[in-house]
Amino acid sequence: MSIRLKTKLSIGLNFLFIVIVLFGVLGLFYINRLSNDGRLVLQNNHESLVYCNRMLQSLEDLQTDKNAMATFEMNLKKQQANITEVGEKEATDDLTRNYNELLIDPSDSTNYSDIRRSIFKIQDLNEMATVRKNTAAQQTAENAKDVLTVLFTILTLVAFTFIFNLPGIISGPIRSLSEGILAVAGKDYKKRIYLRQGDEFGDLANAFNTMAEKLDEYESSNLAKIKFEKSRIETIINQMRDGIIGLDEKRNILFLNAVAEKLLGLKEAAITGVYAPDIAVTNDLMRRLLQDNPEKKDLKIYADNKESYFSKDVLEVTNNETIIGQVIVLRNITPFHELNEAKTNFIATVSHELKTPLSSIKMSARLLTDLRVGALNGEQQELIRSITDDADRLLKITGELLNMSQVETGNIQLKLQPASPVTIVDHAVQAVLFQAQQKHVQIRTKIADNLPSIQADLEKTSWVLINFLTNAIKYSPEDADIEVTACLQRNKVEFIVKDNGRGIEEKYLPRIFDRYFKVPGSHDRNGTGLGLSISKEFIEAQGGRIWVKSELGEGSSFGFSFNAG
Ligand code: ADP
Repeated sequence: MSIRLKTKLSIGLNFLFIVIVLFGVLGLFYINRLSNDGRLVLQNNHESLVYCNRMLQSLEDLQTDKNAMATFEMNLKKQQANITEVGEKEATDDLTRNYNELLIDPSDSTNYSDIRRSIFKIQDLNEMATVRKNTAAQQTAENAKDVLTVLFTILTLVAFTFIFNLPGIISGPIRSLSEGILAVAGKDYKKRIYLRQGDEFGDLANAFNTMAEKLDEYESSNLAKIKFEKSRIETIINQMRDGIIGLDEKRNILFLNAVAEKLLGLKEAAITGVYAPDIAVTNDLMRRLLQDNPEKKDLKIYADNKESYFSKDVLEVTNNETIIGQVIVLRNITPFHELNEAKTNFIATVSHELKTPLSSIKMSARLLTDLRVGALNGEQQELIRSITDDADRLLKITGELLNMSQVETGNIQLKLQPASPVTIVDHAVQAVLFQAQQKHVQIRTKIADNLPSIQADLEKTSWVLINFLTNAIKYSPEDADIEVTACLQRNKVEFIVKDNGRGIEEKYLPRIFDRYFKVPGSHDRNGTGLGLSISKEFIEAQGGRIWVKSELGEGSSFGFSFNAG
């Protein structure tokens, strides 16, 4: 049976208490006994010796001193009352008898010697008793010394045992427990504490072991869950048709899926843990993947035995808002590219094929208005004008679509030559003059003096300016003013078309140059949403810059600039 710690401590402390009490009681007992013995010697024997001495003295003085008799009798009485030793009573009775005989015959000297003998006898008895008692007291003191020494030795040994064992009883289990707690803190959930004690420490160790067991179970079930999730995600990643590459925060390779392995021509096992920029030194695709691609241009890669297109997405993996890695997703968009190409080719073909019949419709319509063909009534003239307008609009649209297909296929043919800004502005203003007049819109030109010529494709640059002007007229009210500026700004020639029309909401401005984008609610059914995107392509292909500034209700400014010279 095991003893509780509380009981152990109680036993120890109770023992010490008993020891102190025992020591005190024994000490008091012996001191008391010794002092009693001394007192008795003093009282019983010393006093008898004093009486005897006084009686002897009185006997000497009996002839000369009248009071001697009384002193003798008084001391005799005291002696009679202080009989303590064996034989003392007989000796005192003898003394009394001899004294009485002396009283009867004071002249008989034999009485004196009898009295003296009796007194000596009493003295002897008491002196012997004193010696004996002294010896007994010494014996008592010796005994006390022995008993207390033995007791002291035993108690010292017991106390030493306590001193040596008690700290161990407490600190041993505490050390084991703190070792266990540190192990668990270090995630060693297999740690157990074995204390073969049935006390509170034993209970604590059992509780600790239960806790560690539970943690171990929890950890293994979590681990199993994590392993399951990992293999699930790995399966999904490997099944995906997109290439996926995982990097850690230091850009070391974490994983590649099968598609990425094929595209990079590298095996996952061979490059896991390798610093990605090191691979980029010898691997062209990896280099392109690690490069920043702010324009989000599609990557052209030779894969599946043909030119393939991939879009690259870099996803940042975060944990508590700190970046712990990157996942690069390479999406195969070749089918979309192929479809887009087919669409562009179709548009180019259709637009091209429509151009000739549309031009002949326009031509025929104009011929119909010739009086030589025959006079037309007012209604017929109106119909012819409507046919011409529609043909113009269709020609504009087919022209835009053709331009766009050129842009999309990367087939922009630029005829770069020195061009005068004045010529470009005049050309464009002339082209929209009729349209402006119809709407009573005033076009003002502000061309700075001595503008340097620019290196540009005259036709395409004019086309852009015409597009700006057409839009400005379209989105301005009747009788409005439009300003065309050409000036030199920081060694760049700038062309700006400013209108006071309805303007554009700020949120649409970033998308205004996107293909097919039309400001929602503009109610312009004729527009294609292509004009500005083609303008951007035309200007940027020539190394220029294009921009817009606009405020809703205030009007818009569209501009582009080229390097002078
Ligand atoms: P569209 O052929 O439809 O005019 P654009 O690419 O030229 O196509 O223009 C795109 C959109 O931008 C238009 O639908 C129109 O809403 C807006 N926009 C262009 N120019 C102006 C302007 N000067 N004022 C207001 N909105 C304009």
